[in-house]
Amino acid sequence: MLLLTTPALAGKDKPMNPLLAPWQGPNGGVPPFDKATVPLIASAIEEGMALNLKEIDAIAANAAAPTFDNTYVALERSGVPLNRAMAVYGVWGGNLSTPEFRKVEEKLAGKLAAFSDTIVQNAKLFARLKAVHDDAAQLGALNAEQKRLVDVVYTRFVKQGAALSPEQKKELSALNQQLASLQTKFSQNQLSDEEQIFLTIDDKAGLAGLSEAQIAAAASEAVARKLPGKWVIANTRSSMEPFLVNSENRALREKGFRLWTSRGDNGGAHDNNAIASDILMARAKRSKLLGYPTFAHWQLSDTMAKDPQAAMKLLLSVWTPAIAQFKTDVAAAQKLVDAEKGGFQIEPWDYRYYIEKVRKATYDLDMNEVKPYLQLDHLRDAMFAAAHAIYELDFKKVDGFAVFHPDVEVYQVTRAGEHVGYWYFDPYQRPGKRSGAWMVPYREQSNVDAPIATIVSNNSNFVKPGKGQPTTLSWDDARTMFHEFGHALHGLNSKVHYPTLSGTNTQRDFVEAPSQFNENFLQTPMVLEKLVNAKGEPIPASLLSRIAKAATFNEGFITAETQASAIVDLKLHLAGETRIDTRAFEKQTLAELGMPPQLVMRHRIPAFGHIFSSEDYAAGYYSYLWAEVIEHDLFAAFTEAGNPYDPATAKKLRETLMSVGNTVDGAEAFRAFRGRDPKPDALLRSKGFPVPAAMGPVVPAPALKPTTGRKQAD
Ligand SMILES: [Zn+2]
Repeated sequence: MLLLTTPALAGKDKPMNPLLAPWQGPNGGVPPFDKATVPLIASAIEEGMALNLKEIDAIAANAAAPTFDNTYVALERSGVPLNRAMAVYGVWGGNLSTPEFRKVEEKLAGKLAAFSDTIVQNAKLFARLKAVHDDAAQLGALNAEQKRLVDVVYTRFVKQGAALSPEQKKELSALNQQLASLQTKFSQNQLSDEEQIFLTIDDKAGLAGLSEAQIAAAASEAVARKLPGKWVIANTRSSMEPFLVNSENRALREKGFRLWTSRGDNGGAHDNNAIASDILMARAKRSKLLGYPTFAHWQLSDTMAKDPQAAMKLLLSVWTPAIAQFKTDVAAAQKLVDAEKGGFQIEPWDYRYYIEKVRKATYDLDMNEVKPYLQLDHLRDAMFAAAHAIYELDFKKVDGFAVFHPDVEVYQVTRAGEHVGYWYFDPYQRPGKRSGAWMVPYREQSNVDAPIATIVSNNSNFVKPGKGQPTTLSWDDARTMFHEFGHALHGLNSKVHYPTLSGTNTQRDFVEAPSQFNENFLQTPMVLEKLVNAKGEPIPASLLSRIAKAATFNEGFITAETQASAIVDLKLHLAGETRIDTRAFEKQTLAELGMPPQLVMRHRIPAFGHIFSSEDYAAGYYSYLWAEVIEHDLFAAFTEAGNPYDPATAKKLRETLMSVGNTVDGAEAFRAFRGRDPKPDALLRSKGFPVPAAMGPVVPAPALKPTTGRKQAD
């Protein structure tokens, strides 16, 4: 997970609020977390927006003819005080939220959205952006990064409707408002079916197979729902999925599964089918207004895939081997049912239960065995060692910096003794901290008028140990730690001029590649040898080999249920302006795909919040797999070199891909590193799927269109 913020950049300004003032301290200063209070944050954001709008108006009203420098670069220089305030605002929202702050957030969310609309719809500003963009002579004098900045910024404005006529802008705003309310309704309906519908277990016989912790949680869930003495399984993934894995009661499994997979699909006031259909129609209309044949074309226009068919091709290339593997696994599960004289065929509500039995019988693996070896301090130091080996970065703890919580540690990052940036690490869970793990930059690397070093942060929710105890993590948590650190390394390696193109501000279907890539280093010898338990013993070889062997277990199911959702997502958003009967559409699409009867989409349409509660992942659920193809192929370059830290390969990776931010299209950057387009072979191997001999590149190779003289859809 990565949180994107608006780029930050240093410059001259006259702050009125300490949170808008230039940061104090070495190397360009650090955020003044010690000066922040909720009222100060709220007023800093308001004042920061006002200051920024003044800057924008000045750029738009410039009497001089529009140039790259007085328009595009001027925009890059603007908004610095607001960005300083946003860094603190983001931390209070993500790491320290309180009811007081949430009220501020609710109030400001609408204002921040309106603020960005005001900029996009500023006709004078857009006229200047367009004049430079359309001026072949001016563009001819720019270097590649400058041309890219023009292309990215101009395209972003056009994509949001800056080029429309006043009437069309009105129509666009109306569609945006309609979509906002439909999307909110969709998510509320889904939430309502998750809260108000649940599985009640009346007697102890219904608990067979459940763990002590599950039973205790189900009992307290029942008390919370005024059903004391009974047990309740909530209708959410985190409750229902483990229930389906463990419950020995087939009838209850079926009942629970049916509740869970029909969220948003129960008829009545909370049914999401018609709403999904309305959302698709409004998105199709808006995309047409913006000059694209479908929403998928609009959404993918500035991604690495560009063309929805390229994304579809990848999804289908992984779909076939995933289904083949899934069928093999169903057969193994069926064998167990038959051996138990069950007398039934595996149904979707049986699969998770029986496949766990297959796992235990096949690999004799209890992932709890590895925990004593995964101490947070050791993992962090091993992670640093790996980053040194690949990127020549050094990390040294620094004290005395203002932090927003005593748990937070700050490290100075250097390369060959030169300052590169700061890394803030906030590892532990606490009330008010959002769940999961994420990376967020407090300041982007840039070099417009002078070099500005980045400040990045990693945030997670590890459980704090008792006093004097080491923090030990699960294998999954350790992977997550490497993942987020991969985002941080992407930011720290950035070496560009313009904040808009800096670090992790890349195309959406590329941004998870560097982070997933970094996960690979957890299982390299340099890291593993540093992971010792309290007695100083390393992870036993037999345990490592069982983990490695079980790594691809159940990948057919995991991949297929996700890809079914990704394929349906793309097809829904490729349909254009037609009224879609979502139930029929889902049924027909899955039938055409040859969906096995034991499998259900990971997110069925009426509960597919990723694509209907907001727009971020609409026609974009494919991005996860897309980035996975890239990262596996990146790591394969090191495997082929015979060394996960091969210096020549590492140097090339840094120069072509990790340092370039969004100054280069992701496909171009990959090609510069690998000498060809990404192939899914390494991904297929990592999942234990067969690699077809004639499998070609999945990412097409459209040469980056020359910006000179380029006409947009305006
Ligand atoms: Zn991520």
